[in-house]
Amino acid sequence: MKTVVRYQCEKCRKIYDFPGEAISCEAGHYNLSTEDYNKWLTLQKLTKEAGALNSIAKNVNTDKAFDEAIDKLIAFEKEHHLEGK
Ligand SMILES: [Zn+2]
Repeated sequence: MKTVVRYQCEKCRKIYDFPGEAISCEAGHYNLSTEDYNKWLTLQKLTKEAGALNSIAKNVNTDKAFDEAIDKLIAFEKEHHLEGK
């Protein structure tokens, strides 16, 4: 018996053989290029991490890092019309 790994688009649930195809499908739902979609995911991840760190150790530096991460994410979402998505 063989175990087969497949990849699913998180938006439409379509199944693909390769991760790049699923990422490309997800990007298409937001009218983003794969490159911009990956950039958006990275900004979301960095914001979550900065927020988590800020909740554990709140100080001037973690406040600043969290604010900057949010500002970058919001700027990207405005530029690509992703507000509220
Ligand atoms: Zn899809």
